[in-house]
Amino acid sequence: MRLSFAALIAGLLCSGSAYADTLVDHVRGLTLNAAGNVERFNGIVIDRDGRVLQLLHEDDPRPSRLDFAADGRGAVLLPGLIDAHAHVMGVGLAALTLDLSDTTSLAQAQGKIRAYAAQFPGRPWIIGRGWNQELWQLGRFPTAAELDVAVDDRPVWLERVDGHAGWANSKALAAAGVTAATKDPSGGRIERLPAPRVVSKVAGKAAGKAPAPPVALGAPAGVLVDGAMALVSKIVPPPRPEDRDAALAKAQELFLSRGVTAAADMGTSIEDWQAMRRAGDYGRLTMRVMAYGDGIANTVLIGGPGPTPWLYEDRLRLNGVKLYLDGALGSRGAWLKAPYADAATTGLPFLTETQLKNLISRAAMDHFQVAVHAIGDAANATLLSAIEDVAQTYQGDRRWRIEHAQIVDPADIARFGQNGIIASMQPIHQTSDRTMAEARLGPNRLNGAYAWASMLRAGARLAFGSDAPVEVSDPFAGIAAAITREGADGQPAGGWQPQEKLTRTQALAAYTTGAAYAGQAEAKLGQLKPGWRADFVLVDVDPTTDSPDRIRRTKVLQTWVAGKPVWELGKK
Ligand SMILES: [Zn+2]
Repeated sequence: MRLSFAALIAGLLCSGSAYADTLVDHVRGLTLNAAGNVERFNGIVIDRDGRVLQLLHEDDPRPSRLDFAADGRGAVLLPGLIDAHAHVMGVGLAALTLDLSDTTSLAQAQGKIRAYAAQFPGRPWIIGRGWNQELWQLGRFPTAAELDVAVDDRPVWLERVDGHAGWANSKALAAAGVTAATKDPSGGRIERLPAPRVVSKVAGKAAGKAPAPPVALGAPAGVLVDGAMALVSKIVPPPRPEDRDAALAKAQELFLSRGVTAAADMGTSIEDWQAMRRAGDYGRLTMRVMAYGDGIANTVLIGGPGPTPWLYEDRLRLNGVKLYLDGALGSRGAWLKAPYADAATTGLPFLTETQLKNLISRAAMDHFQVAVHAIGDAANATLLSAIEDVAQTYQGDRRWRIEHAQIVDPADIARFGQNGIIASMQPIHQTSDRTMAEARLGPNRLNGAYAWASMLRAGARLAFGSDAPVEVSDPFAGIAAAITREGADGQPAGGWQPQEKLTRTQALAAYTTGAAYAGQAEAKLGQLKPGWRADFVLVDVDPTTDSPDRIRRTKVLQTWVAGKPVWELGKK
């Protein structure tokens, strides 16, 4: 397939007045309809507003008056993929900051941090993310002293790969005033060095009981978990508006390069929103974003009395609010019904059930859609109860979203279907987390883990995403994982908990029609159908017929949004 991107752009820019229709012909096109069935076509006609006008089959006459025609040369044409859970600004900022996700040992990470700091001598703080002590086979968290070895002349703050823990050096801990006297904040934990032994002055006397030594907390070890992260993150200088603009541009390029034409932004701050508005104002919003405000305050600041209208020809909308009920499994912040198999804790909720219901009610009152992060089975059960309760008052089409729904008690899965709840899940989490989840949960609690097929059987609406930048936003890797439950290495052969595999069309639907429904955009996006937005990708693989391995290695050739090419392989 050899389309010239420059020629395409030139053709489209020249197209002006009356008949601004575009034809992309000679493709192996497919889309899923609302019932989940595959419809195939060979050509697509796009109107001047960037909407689908017509799908053409082999024998259909081609329109005679066209402003532009492109020959797809047999490439597969799919609806643009939708990432139902991503952190758009996070993807861009992560791409522009120190990335430790490819490090496989502490020493390698230290070397990379040292080199990065040397590359940017003027930066007052060194910021990064992506480390994972599990990949380093450290068996514990790294320490501030181990970070000082790499950089000790200025503060360093590095978020863990899941965003649920941060690693600070001594300068950063000092700047934040975190000492042995600092108590663990609620919903958080300061990793500590062993407390110094207080030697009793009466020790050694034979008679009488020694007075109990005063309880001493250990000095901070360097890693702060969940709610404790704010101790440092709140003093990190925020990105400037121009940093956010650059990050958004980078993020869009990364999403489009993977065939993603729309994403739900899970936790939009007012600063993020303003960057998206600037991009829209200047015509630089190339993908579509369905935003969920980061907590009630940001949501109300952005939306005021309710969700915003669709802006910039359906490129941006504030749908609702993102709330967090618990943390992540890797850092043992996920809230479980029974203690972890590998630690004497159940994890913690961030909110009481009353607080949770109050926040959900506050959002629902103004018709903001509610999306709540729940990973552990206790968090999911509590959230289901809260939704069941609040839904009595706030009725109608609410599209309650549970983000991740990773570990769910099998007894609770039916409750997703009973309430029309959207299970917003990330297939790649299953393949990346498999061994970690086994360690955290033990062998007997894996039945409701990443239980995609059970969710569908129970009548839940399934939407798939990546949680980028936690994982790369790559829907094709996600589809391959969803239909095999095997990692890129083919392990475990036959799939992990294989009863939860999806069919190809179920997996594709979760990235198209399902994700569009979750984002309240099913009448605009997710299908190629007259009247729907002409967002599509040209790829070299048919996910409904090719092997999972081929799907995993899908090459995105071109990405089109609103009937215009916005990304092409090999072009910047
Ligand atoms: Zn997330």
